[in-house]
Amino acid sequence: MSGLIPDSFIEELLARSDIVELIERRVPLKRSGSEYQACCPFHDEKTPSFTVSPRKQFYHCFGCGAHGSVIGFLMQYEGLEFLDAVDELARAAGLEVPSGGKQLPRPDTGLYDILQSASKFYVEQLRNNPGAVEYLKGRGLSGEICRDFDIGYAPSGWDSLIKHLGIDTRRLELLKQAGMLSTGNSGDYDKFRNRIMFPIHDRRGRVIAFGGRALSDDGPKYLNSPETTLYHKGRELYGLYLARQRAGRLDHIIVVEGYMDVVALAQFGFKNAVATSGTATTPSQVELLFRSADTVIFCFDGDKAGRQAAWRALEATLPKLREGLQAKFLFLPDGEDPDSMVRKHGEKVFAEQVEAAKPLSEFFFDHFTSGIDLGKLDGRAKFVEQAQPYLEKLPPGGFRDMMISQLESRSFHKLKRHVPGPVAPSGTNDERGKPIQTRTPLRVALAHLVQNPALAEQLENIDEFNGPGNTDVQGIEIFRELVDFCSQRPNISTAQLLAHWHEHPALPHLEKLAVWNLPGEEDKQLQEFIDATNRIRLSWVETLLSRISNIMLQKEEYRALQKRQQALKKQLEGQQD
Ligand SMILES: [Zn+2]
Repeated sequence: MSGLIPDSFIEELLARSDIVELIERRVPLKRSGSEYQACCPFHDEKTPSFTVSPRKQFYHCFGCGAHGSVIGFLMQYEGLEFLDAVDELARAAGLEVPSGGKQLPRPDTGLYDILQSASKFYVEQLRNNPGAVEYLKGRGLSGEICRDFDIGYAPSGWDSLIKHLGIDTRRLELLKQAGMLSTGNSGDYDKFRNRIMFPIHDRRGRVIAFGGRALSDDGPKYLNSPETTLYHKGRELYGLYLARQRAGRLDHIIVVEGYMDVVALAQFGFKNAVATSGTATTPSQVELLFRSADTVIFCFDGDKAGRQAAWRALEATLPKLREGLQAKFLFLPDGEDPDSMVRKHGEKVFAEQVEAAKPLSEFFFDHFTSGIDLGKLDGRAKFVEQAQPYLEKLPPGGFRDMMISQLESRSFHKLKRHVPGPVAPSGTNDERGKPIQTRTPLRVALAHLVQNPALAEQLENIDEFNGPGNTDVQGIEIFRELVDFCSQRPNISTAQLLAHWHEHPALPHLEKLAVWNLPGEEDKQLQEFIDATNRIRLSWVETLLSRISNIMLQKEEYRALQKRQQALKKQLEGQQD
């Protein structure tokens, strides 16, 4: 979460949003007791293990462990960043996101407006330009697909866009900031001229940049918007917004290199393709991809440059390959791109190729074993030396284990079983996402409190928790902090509570306790809670007692020693007399 937005605002936002309503618009929910259930939108399943609790304002999947508040859901489901999710909820709730002095400058909303207007202008211009329309038809694109992608045309003059939109200094300045102008000796002029225009949308569907394909031999074949406050090319994927609009969470996603590839694939029914904008695949793009689909298929040219680009994509992917996610690589025949491929050979052939894409593991081991003689000892040693550091980047889990055993069986070399690597957050759940902790009184008390913060009001003698001896109870500070916190805000929901504690080291622990199964009936809950807290009290009363009885025992010894001392002194004094 971001420290840029005050906690109080997040609290208000969570209070005004309803998680059931928000999720129901995207995933059909079924009522089950006091909660709602569905088949999880984040993993494949046939029996529902995804639950939404209106009271906690929290969702949780017992299958894959996904959990969170409305904010978390929007981030996970829509692939939004934290700030964007907050923005979206604020709009729905009619709240204004505070822009305090501490905040980072937010992009001028005028930039979005001017880019939207530019996109509209280009679409209009396309209609008036038969040459551009001919070109698109020649590429096999229908009017419908061009409309879907808002494909447009930038006229060939030097100032068509300026004349149309830059009609005052403010708007001229916005066009400049949005990266739509170039500056020469004689002033500003349109950056994009005589080009087919592909608007690039952010994850909320706002135009943030353009890619332009030249219609003449003048200048580079493809020209992109420069980086601006709205557009960071390493963090965006062309076509992702549209793909998700059509399908929500995708089964798999195809990553290609060009805008035209994305559009051509959509024309042939592959509506799940996205493109990096002339950059190597970045880790943030991989993150985005896996937020949208469990399987990512990277599609590259089969030539040397294509293989290099694929390897960079693999490197960006390794650290993100959590359980249940997979990446594949599809290499096209030399000289082909997805656009030419699908137009020449049709959708069936392309679908077969997608189906036959190489699993990451195969591409990985091919990469290291090509040119190495595994029949020789030094060949195998070289192979292990080169490949092992990459495997250490994989998150712990079944896939990593499989890769390590493959490395071992190919090299006849036994690796140390615990290859150092990213450390799993402490206290992680097991595969099924179920809590693996035992029910100690402290955990039970914490779980009740997290799930039902109002219970704090029912506690008597809170001061006793600050009494001597209780510091010996491990984790009691968290309980005390939580009791204090909840008694000040008895009406808070679980989601709000967790949002407040987002930076607390105990958060992962509390998140787990937030989804523990507790008895359903409310009066029983109170009793369980009181019992658990009394058990905590009892345990330290007993600690104190045993400590004191020690002291008392020592007292008796002390007295005996004193007596002995006096007796000895007396004896000595008697001798002196
Ligand atoms: Zn799940």
